[in-house]
Amino acid sequence: MPEPRDNAAPVMQIEDLNLWYGDGTHALRDVSFDLYPRECLAFIGPSGCGKSTALKVLNRMHEGQTNVRVTGRVTMQGHDIHAHDVDPPLHRRRFGWVAQKPNPFPMSIWDNVAYGPRIHGLARTRAELDVVVEDCLRRAHLWDEVKDHLHDMEGTDLSGGQQQRLCIARALSTDPEVLLMDEPTGSIDPIATAAVERLVMELKRRLSVVLVTHSMMQARRVADRVAYFHLGELREIGPTELIFTAARDPLARAFIRGKFG
Ligand code: ADP
Repeated sequence: MPEPRDNAAPVMQIEDLNLWYGDGTHALRDVSFDLYPRECLAFIGPSGCGKSTALKVLNRMHEGQTNVRVTGRVTMQGHDIHAHDVDPPLHRRRFGWVAQKPNPFPMSIWDNVAYGPRIHGLARTRAELDVVVEDCLRRAHLWDEVKDHLHDMEGTDLSGGQQQRLCIARALSTDPEVLLMDEPTGSIDPIATAAVERLVMELKRRLSVVLVTHSMMQARRVADRVAYFHLGELREIGPTELIFTAARDPLARAFIRGKFG
């Protein structure tokens, strides 16, 4: 597999990022990495080491919490994401977000997917919205299972795995450049997990995916590159097979071999 960095400029560049929560927790320490187009980058490492925090900084989701302090520089397509002229909701729209626990809205399947494009004015007529809904549900491999129940079933009526694919369809509905997934298979069964992993493999052909996972096997199956976090530091980042077979960092090597975490 070609290295993403060989042939493309990064989508995002993160330089010397530090983040402190209001209680003084220093959750990210001098973290630097690039994110490339059409790659899946997995964040791995023990619990509490900053993986979710690093994910949230990318779409400025951490700003919902009080007294969080960030230093360092994050750019997207070369522009500082914290610049005064960047509108946080508009910035956030460039990302899809998939949480660990499927969280469909308590509304019809159709409305779950149409919601984003409608409120952002990306599709104006009902016919345009129909096209977006079908396209996203097809991309999430859910269309065939739900096409006859778009309006008479709620998202919450679906099985756990279907709900997660609905949430992925919803995340795709605003045509994001980057998909952020925070342990997306952490609460679904192995068959549903395999479906989501196949989906990630397909989606990364068109956009960048950043995936937080506790599963080493999952990172190895789906990620092009892996970043190992430890106590807020990004200790090592590199091509997946290299990290799994020959990580330079002793902590990364020990974690991957199951010695702790
Ligand atoms: P991971 O995703 O690797 O499990 P997190 O990014 O969730 O790690 O957490 C990193 C550190 O920041 C941990 O010490 C955690 O307790 C702390 N933390 C996370 N969220 C908050 C918060 N909202 N307020 C205070 N501390 C937090």
